Amino acid sequence: MKSLIYTALSALRPRLTRGASVLMYHSVAVGTDYFSAVAPEVFERHMAWLASEREVIPLAEAIAHPRPAVALSFDDGYEDNFTAAFPVLKRHGFHATIFVVMSRVGQPGYLQKGQIREMHESGLVSFMPHSRTHPDLTTLTDVRLREEVAGSKADLEALIREVDPAYAADIFAYPKGTADARVVAAVREAGYAAAVGVRPGLLTAASDPHMIERNSVDRTTTHARFRMEASDAIVAYERLKGLFIS
Ligand SMILES: [Zn+2]
Repeated sequence: MKSLIYTALSALRPRLTRGASVLMYHSVAVGTDYFSAVAPEVFERHMAWLASEREVIPLAEAIAHPRPAVALSFDDGYEDNFTAAFPVLKRHGFHATIFVVMSRVGQPGYLQKGQIREMHESGLVSFMPHSRTHPDLTTLTDVRLREEVAGSKADLEALIREVDPAYAADIFAYPKGTADARVVAAVREAGYAAAVGVRPGLLTAASDPHMIERNSVDRTTTHARFRMEASDAIVAYERLKGLFIS
């Protein structure tokens, strides 16, 4: 009976002991058919769960010292990260990292320069490059690859150093999560200390710093799946899935 209760409890309150879970969001919005958009009330529910069940730490801290905690990240730089997500992050005092596609900054639906600077100055949001134009980097010539990887770093540093001269962009996110050995080499060469992909799992001391695991949260993510992604169970689940797929 006791073990039954324990099993039921651990299903309700899944544990995180083996590493950090880096969550990947995109847009926080309703009324869009965009696959990666999470509704604002769903996002609020996620953050409320994290507030009671997990420690939320900056991505850079999770990379430097992996430990059982959650790090929040957003890809592409949607404007709703400022209008919908930022107020919730502020309420909880949660830190997040936003990976921006530099060519989209200031475009309709995407973050404006002023919003980026305001969030940066709050100390709650770190901005990092996600390339200039979001191509599949593995298909580019060496010259174009360098433009996307080193160029987006230079663009973002120029933008944020206007308000923070000490700022350095040192974490990269591969567009579409695609990278090969040549792309990783270009990312290291450009001076990035770390880079995140889209392979699910936990960030541990054994993780490759230039291919960090991230767990995607999108409109198909149920609350049970969300809790699993912030738990040890994500590792076993992905391993099991791999057995059936391969
Ligand atoms: Zn992206």
